[in-house]
Amino acid sequence: MDFSPTETDLEVQRAARAYAQRVIAPRAHELSEGEIFPEAEVRGLAELGLMGVNVPSDLGGAEAGVVAYSLAMQEVAAACASTAVTMSVTNMVAEIITRFGTRDQAERHVPRLCSGEYVAGSFALSEPEAGSDPGGMRTTAKKTATGWVLDGQKQWITSGTHAGVFVVWARTGEPGTRGISCFLVEQGAKGLRIGKREDKLGLRASSTVPLAFEGCEVPDAALFGPQGGGFKIAMTALDGGRIGIASQACGIAAAALAAATDYARQRRAFDRPIGDFQAIQWMLADSRTELDAARALTLRAAWLKGRGQPFSREASMAKLFASEACNRACQKAVQVLGGYGYTREFPVERYLRDARVTTIYEGTSEIQRTVIARMLLA
Ligand SMILES: Cc1cc2nc3c(=O)[nH]c(=O)nc-3n(C[C@H](O)[C@H](O)[C@H](O)COP(=O)(O)OP(=O)(O)OC[C@H]3O[C@@H](n4cnc5c(N)ncnc54)[C@H](O)[C@@H]3O)c2cc1C
Repeated sequence: MDFSPTETDLEVQRAARAYAQRVIAPRAHELSEGEIFPEAEVRGLAELGLMGVNVPSDLGGAEAGVVAYSLAMQEVAAACASTAVTMSVTNMVAEIITRFGTRDQAERHVPRLCSGEYVAGSFALSEPEAGSDPGGMRTTAKKTATGWVLDGQKQWITSGTHAGVFVVWARTGEPGTRGISCFLVEQGAKGLRIGKREDKLGLRASSTVPLAFEGCEVPDAALFGPQGGGFKIAMTALDGGRIGIASQACGIAAAALAAATDYARQRRAFDRPIGDFQAIQWMLADSRTELDAARALTLRAAWLKGRGQPFSREASMAKLFASEACNRACQKAVQVLGGYGYTREFPVERYLRDARVTTIYEGTSEIQRTVIARMLLA
């Protein structure tokens, strides 16, 4: 197995790194503190082709593949995890519309997602009482003469304030996963109300909002994929999305490790740099080892997906390991910086807060373990 990056992968990585370090990183603290959505940064990413990295060029994508996407995501996340999650969800939405949409749906939405004309895309699966178990969703879509009427609540919708299009799951039939269908709902649709931004521990520049569908009428053409086939679309999207979040976790961990390493070289105690102490060295060594393992798992999943091979289990393993390793690396980085690590003066406290959600969204660690174990035991 050879999943070493190609020249295209490396070019995309270099472009993402240059933009992330020059434009995004210097503003990350301000965006987080001010809870400012990274609109300008996202448009800049779109100009570089990074809002549709694995999307065909005839739909406006970069057509650079999944490994390139993972490498770019790592670079952006190292600069600003909030910008990275906006990029991750938008890429996921562009990819699934390309894969499951009609030609008309794809031509209407995908070029706008890739070009930045839509600042973002949103993925509206979770509900106030259905997160890990989307089969328990209560949002309904009822057929009318000309289309569908959606009623219900969605919860935790990333970029909901700025999305041009929402992929929305709703029940059109029997209870459980078979009665779920999927719809494309445009921003401004009558009967769609965007709620107040959540006040979160981390990812404070990313907007996370509830959505209320109150007699929201959409045309027949909004049905996305086959009626009753929505759950499969959600699971397929999440498999790919988990590569995005694993990559985001690798990026945050890399930033935390770099900050801790720099500090260990400079900070002195007992007449020597703290990097001379074995206790500090071991924290840095463990973080580096786990980061490399996380990257290897993530690139393996990306490589398999790019080759059209099954990658569900590998994506769950990558997301599980990378998100947990990222949290450990951020905890250690704060420890290496001592009291300064606990202040806003250094970025490691933001990394720690941003890292926390990576074991929760796009399937909690418990759900990833369930997916992996189920495939093992099958
Ligand atoms: C910042 C943020 C952004 C998000 N963005 C989006 C988005 O854009 N779109 C979207 O649709 N959703 C989004 N989510 C929702 C996210 O995917 C859910 O929060 C997540 O799936 C968990 O669901 P829950 O919060 O309802 O927790 P629950 O499902 O209620 O879980 C609570 C606890 O129970 C555990 N648990 C549940 N079931 C099992 C089980 N079978 N076995 C063992 N343990 C179990 C969980 O692991 C967790 O520890 C976002 C969430 C956050 C916080």
